[in-house]
Amino acid sequence: SIPLGYFGGIGKAAREGILVKGSNFLDALSKATIVAFDKTGTLTKGVFKVTKIETRNGFNEEEILRFAALAEAHSNHPIARAIKEAYGEKINEAQIKEHEEIAGHGVRARIDGTEILVGNDRLLHRFDVEHDTCHVKGTVAHVVVNGKYAGYIVISDEIKEDAPKAVRELKRLGVKKVIMVTGDGRDVAEEIAKQIGLDDFHAELLPEDKVKIIEKLEGEKKDEEKIVFVGDGINDAPVIARADVGVAMGALGSDAAIETADIIIMDDKPSKLPRGIRIARKTRRIVW
Ligand code: ADP
Ligand code: MG
Repeated sequence: SIPLGYFGGIGKAAREGILVKGSNFLDALSKATIVAFDKTGTLTKGVFKVTKIETRNGFNEEEILRFAALAEAHSNHPIARAIKEAYGEKINEAQIKEHEEIAGHGVRARIDGTEILVGNDRLLHRFDVEHDTCHVKGTVAHVVVNGKYAGYIVISDEIKEDAPKAVRELKRLGVKKVIMVTGDGRDVAEEIAKQIGLDDFHAELLPEDKVKIIEKLEGEKKDEEKIVFVGDGINDAPVIARADVGVAMGALGSDAAIETADIIIMDDKPSKLPRGIRIARKTRRIVW
């Protein structure tokens, strides 16, 4: 049977927008020692804006943006949405003859007779296209037209206002390690980790690499310790399922992640995690 005090704890958390799916998860949360956050949509707002377009090999900005927007027509990724918004025009879907989204890489599409690639270094490596290595403050989406490097689009996101506070509070609560795992590039990840005050970060990860990192941390921890993963759910559901405590952001998060998660933060604020830990610990003291 579940000690009655836990219902009080779950109710209190719920009133603050932290939905805990069972008393066992509240108990586990009280023992959190390692917290891993996803980046996009979790520590950052996930609202991307195109901030720069760099052209190469005789292409112009309008062309790059148009090709990229067409190639991203069927993608719902935050990067795709930013590119389509910057393009601003209606897309005639009949032109899109082929479309393939490659997780953690980008997209490949055929627009009438033109082959387009839009994505990161890894995508271009995969298709063996030579390109610039850019060190910019933002996410880089390279654009390739018929095998020719056309330039890149820089897309920027902002950290959530309460993210640094969330990390400070977690440390104050004695959480040993607060880290970030992301599919995004090293430069952006490093910049964000510094701004937020994280202990460590892992960048350029594929969704399955995130699971491996959580498994490695699980292998290193002591019995009573618990590992918490917080994600927004785009590609994150497997990691949310694997962590001792899987937390999903509820407002922007995907349905799959919300279903898999043990805890849901309704207003997407990372600072709700330390708040939840406080409630969990207080509940534990009342129950035992
Ligand atoms: P995160 O871990 O930051 O949530 P994802 O795993 O969703 O990131 O994606 C990792 C990287 O793959 C992105 O930073 C981007 O470089 C590339 N990528 C994924 N989908 C797309 C897309 N539709 N268009 C362009 N690039 C993409
Ligand atoms: Mg994400």
